[in-house]
Amino acid sequence: MTVLIMTDLEGISGVDRIEQMNTDTEGYAYACRRLAADINACTAGCLDAGAKTVYVVDGHGGGHNLDAALLHPSATLLTERGAWEDVLASGECAAYLEVGCHAMPGTMNAFLDHCQSSARWYNYLVNGRRAGEIAQGAMIAGAYDVPFVMVSGDDAACLEARAFLGCIETASVKVGLGRNRARCIPLDEAASRIRTAACNGVLRRSEIRPFKPTLPMELRLELYRSDMCDELCAAIPTLERVDARSVRKVVPEIRRYRDVLFS
Ligand SMILES: [Zn+2]
Repeated sequence: MTVLIMTDLEGISGVDRIEQMNTDTEGYAYACRRLAADINACTAGCLDAGAKTVYVVDGHGGGHNLDAALLHPSATLLTERGAWEDVLASGECAAYLEVGCHAMPGTMNAFLDHCQSSARWYNYLVNGRRAGEIAQGAMIAGAYDVPFVMVSGDDAACLEARAFLGCIETASVKVGLGRNRARCIPLDEAASRIRTAACNGVLRRSEIRPFKPTLPMELRLELYRSDMCDELCAAIPTLERVDARSVRKVVPEIRRYRDVLFS
């Protein structure tokens, strides 16, 4: 059995300050080590549930957060562009998991809530419903009939995942104290929660239905300022301008991850 673990950095255990997203800091180096630890706990849970092949994607920023030498020997890091989408599309992938998640923009007490760009994306809506990166991951996995079975992150991310995906397994490793700080649970407890949730999620994969929005799907993006919207429309002329700060596009079918983005 093959599974795929997507990762982000904001919702990783032990990461509790916005400063840790700055790659020049000691706190960032620590966050990257914790990223490997959370992936390894998730990998162990997948193996407990019978997975034989565990693919991992370094999804934060442009990747390059993860030291592959720290990874569980049974985990394989996918580094080629688009390789993770090929795994989902292969028909071989039994379950999709996300480690280190954060909530959508505009969520109260959610550590580093945003969608794609903290500086530019104000609201992202799928068929009229506000959404974030968890929904984006669910849509691409669902497009290939792969169930999204487990999320780890802060409390708000776990809540959001359950609101979108129903009976998904979740592992909360922290609580947001406002946006830029969090209170983390002890690291060994975080690892235990992640391993258990991953195992239960993979075991329950046949009861968790792949997420499929109604198609054709309307995606709407509200940016912070109208000049950001001007630039986006100039770069992607096929976008429809809704108002000063908003654009929309209609997606007839989800084929690749870029279909759920605005890039
Ligand atoms: Zn991130």
